[in-house]
Amino acid sequence: MSEFFIIALILLGVGLAFKPLFGMIGGWWNAKKCPQCGKRGHLTVTDKQMAGSWDTTKTVIKTDVSYMTDRYGNRDPNRRIETDREVQVAATATAQRVHYRCEQCGHTFERDVVTIK
Ligand SMILES: [Zn+2]
Repeated sequence: MSEFFIIALILLGVGLAFKPLFGMIGGWWNAKKCPQCGKRGHLTVTDKQMAGSWDTTKTVIKTDVSYMTDRYGNRDPNRRIETDREVQVAATATAQRVHYRCEQCGHTFERDVVTIK
């Protein structure tokens, strides 16, 4: 295996690990953009209203802990096994209608922001 290949693999791993973070930054970056003039960072929130809420589910990680047994059949505290599994739990989604005004071109628009708790 060449060194170049190893470095490429490491970079790929790092890229995959940070992908959700890049997605978050991208979402935040786009949320700051005015749909009319395309300028960023000139939006002011003028009003917020509750648009509704509904029952939903969300995925959480649950960790199961088990121990391997020694040759006498006793739990061996040094051989702890943790298994992560995804479970669906009940959650509440809340939609908030956010009104924006662009200070650059005066365009007003609204956007629904959904938060799940
Ligand atoms: Zn604008």
